[in-house]
Amino acid sequence: MAVCMENQMTQYLRNLPRIDDVRDNTLLDPYRARYSADLIARAAREVVEEERSCILSLEGDSYTPKNEEYFARKTIEKLEALIKPSLMSCINAAGVVIHTNMGRAVLSERASQAVYEIARSYSNLELDLQSGKRGLRHSHVEGILTELTGAEAAVVVNNNAAAVMLVLSELAQNKEAIISRGELIEIGGSFRIPEIMRLSNATMVEVGTTNKTHLFDYERAITENTSLFLKVHPSNFRILGFTETPDARELMHLAHEHNIVVYEDLGSGVLVNLEAYGLPHERTVNEALSEGVDVVSFSGDKLLGATQAGIIVGKKAIIDRIKKNQLLRALRPDKLTLAALETTLLEYRNEARAISEIPTLRLLTKSYEELKQQAQVFVDELKASLSEKSLDIYEIGSEPDSSRAGGGSMPAIDIPTELVIISSKLNNEVDLKNSLLHDFDIPIITRIHKDKLALDLRTLLHEEERTYLLNSLKEVLKA
Ligand SMILES: *Cc1c(COP(=O)(O)O)cnc(C)c1O
Repeated sequence: MAVCMENQMTQYLRNLPRIDDVRDNTLLDPYRARYSADLIARAAREVVEEERSCILSLEGDSYTPKNEEYFARKTIEKLEALIKPSLMSCINAAGVVIHTNMGRAVLSERASQAVYEIARSYSNLELDLQSGKRGLRHSHVEGILTELTGAEAAVVVNNNAAAVMLVLSELAQNKEAIISRGELIEIGGSFRIPEIMRLSNATMVEVGTTNKTHLFDYERAITENTSLFLKVHPSNFRILGFTETPDARELMHLAHEHNIVVYEDLGSGVLVNLEAYGLPHERTVNEALSEGVDVVSFSGDKLLGATQAGIIVGKKAIIDRIKKNQLLRALRPDKLTLAALETTLLEYRNEARAISEIPTLRLLTKSYEELKQQAQVFVDELKASLSEKSLDIYEIGSEPDSSRAGGGSMPAIDIPTELVIISSKLNNEVDLKNSLLHDFDIPIITRIHKDKLALDLRTLLHEEERTYLLNSLKEVLKA
């Protein structure tokens, strides 16, 4: 029996087509103009190799030998997969507004358009159109940043982690920087304040305790070599109970008395008062600056709702020093970043516009009532599209839960939402979730809530996404 099986396997392997024959199949002719001969040969080889592995792993299972057409068609599929980018759009039905794994902030229509326009033409990135001479890359966003934040000057780098490094390198290299033990944070697994300090050649001086740090802790730690007080916004955690930090104005006073610069890494850059829109208060850039903080840095793609960038604003004398730091050349933003950032910032000139046009702010400020109504309409539409048989297996309804701001913004804050909930008599909710993720051209990210499949419509961006989600669900719930 074993011998017979082995003989058969050898026979199957022997009957596999030659790679050259697959490559030369006339079915591939229409593709020869688009794909190089090398790429076609590579795809053909991979298809034949996959079939070979499939035969070798047969353990007495039945096998149907494939014809030439099969190999040619598989090769075409493979070619299409080979030129498909790995980075692609996804539908976020998980309700985390700023999801680092899903690319954080989504750009507004105007910002997306600006990126597109700047990408496909030459620009005045470093050209002063008035004089026709060399201009400054930073000039495009500095004006709007100072206008919106009230800072004297601004400079932008690649991301906020880079901003922290740059500021520390410039202001605390070979000097002492004092930080409260309550602010020695790690963000996103790899960004740790003590490590960044080391990389910047700053000597970190920790003061106070995890929950309480007093003004006298800072005062006692000051030496001749102290150049900086570093304040770090606790973006992704919250300490509750007995906590204490020094009064901001007293701390500024102490610093400035000793010629010490106060730098605050704010994390998420908020430019509007979110409380006015029913959200918890988040410290704004203007608040930090008006308390007297000398230099503030924040991310472009968290609550600000623009693109990945590290924005540094503050006193002119300090920003000028940072602008001259050699590291800046290595950390500078590209033109697409600047296009997205400038256009997004311009929306903030009109706060109502910022809230309605910048997706991050629009999604976060959707009310529970609005979401509840949307969930109900969605449930009704989905049910109406399913067969009796499907409806017998799947129970579709909605229930209140919460969305998250995510991306290290507004920690532990639940934003009320209404989830669309699908439960299955087959207990295959996880399979449904995986099918939505893998089986469609646009991957759909959902979540499991109390063992059921849950969709949070808060993070759907437009009607096309809603329709796509409905149709895909109709497909996976087919019985
Ligand atoms: C997110 C965050 C950073 C890192 O910002 P990136 O833009 O992701 O590089 C640094 N500090 C704080 C406090 C943050 O919240």
